[in-house]
Amino acid sequence: MSTILTYISINDGKIKRSSLEVLSRCNELAEKQGLESSALVVSDSVSGVVEELKKYGPAMIYTIENPVFKNHLNAPLLKALALSIETIKPRLLAFSSTESSKDILGALAANRGAAALADVSEFELTDSGAKAKRPVMASKVISSVEARDSLVLVTVRSGSYTAVENPVNSNIESIPFRIDDADLKINLKEIISATGDKIDLSEAETVVAAGRGVKDEEGRKLINELASVLGGAIGASRALTESGVYDPSLQIGQTGKVISPQLYIGIGISGAIQHVAGMANSKVIVAINKDPDAPIFDIADYGIVGDLYKVLPPFIDELKKVKQN
Ligand SMILES: Cc1cc2nc3c(=O)[nH]c(=O)nc-3n(C[C@H](O)[C@H](O)[C@H](O)COP(=O)(O)OP(=O)(O)OC[C@H]3O[C@@H](n4cnc5c(N)ncnc54)[C@H](O)[C@@H]3O)c2cc1C
Repeated sequence: MSTILTYISINDGKIKRSSLEVLSRCNELAEKQGLESSALVVSDSVSGVVEELKKYGPAMIYTIENPVFKNHLNAPLLKALALSIETIKPRLLAFSSTESSKDILGALAANRGAAALADVSEFELTDSGAKAKRPVMASKVISSVEARDSLVLVTVRSGSYTAVENPVNSNIESIPFRIDDADLKINLKEIISATGDKIDLSEAETVVAAGRGVKDEEGRKLINELASVLGGAIGASRALTESGVYDPSLQIGQTGKVISPQLYIGIGISGAIQHVAGMANSKVIVAINKDPDAPIFDIADYGIVGDLYKVLPPFIDELKKVKQN
């Protein structure tokens, strides 16, 4: 039976939510077209991941386990993916759009002579390949693209689909893999993490985003407190990353991270298109801004017009009360 395959991204031993979203979409397509939906785990340790993955419905789970996959390195990952394609022969290989899949997509497409559709927000199978919708130009334009090939690679923006639990008794198959030192032209010496153990912005369920309206230490304290009460991640507009107030890794937008949380709260952010390009996929958007004409209100589900320094303290107090009850 012809297979559509989802590559499962793992971070710190946990499956990325965005991969489960892509897998759920592939399950749906497979069911509709009488195909098999399979998942591929490439990791230094696969057992916990496989158990978790069975809850999300792949008929087959292929694994490649090797210590070299502890951290992302292009050369071994490329080798593992090329081998998986040779072994499984999928007609579509879908990834969530992550730093790692962006890094590997072009090389893998060239290596396998496959068509690639990058950073799509919707995708479908066709008789001759796949078609997709791609947001371009800071999401101002949605382009419609089609790839005609026996193998299509696709990377999918997080938040484009919903991860649906569907426990099954998946079959597991381990693909034998070996790598020699000679294959490793680059060695990873050290990972320097700017965000430390803070919540990963691109995977967070709740994001509290600060903009230029957050002017001082007092404002930043309010942002920290709100994020902590909600158990959310902190993000920022470019106005605050460029000025060095927040780390560049926290920037949301066209030249920053693309996020898709369940809840986004933008505070003192005007809603420039380059910022919106990174957060428009959020499920519920809340904006706090003193300017009633700020463009962010055009896309917000809920808006509070007011000075953030006056709005946030009672807002945080109320949230604390709700959480206590
Ligand atoms: C090529 C390019 C790429 C870019 N990429 C990005 C990107 O990835 N991400 C990004 O964010 N931007 C990006 N930008 C910049 C973008 O155009 C905007 O300049 C930026 O998003 C503005 O940030 P801001 O909303 O925080 O600031 P502003 O636009 O200055 O808005 C500040 C808002 O705070 C409100 N405010 C002020 N004081 C208070 C208060 N006390 N209480 C409540 N509200 C208050 C104001 O009413 C205003 O609406 C890019 C620009 C270019 C040209």
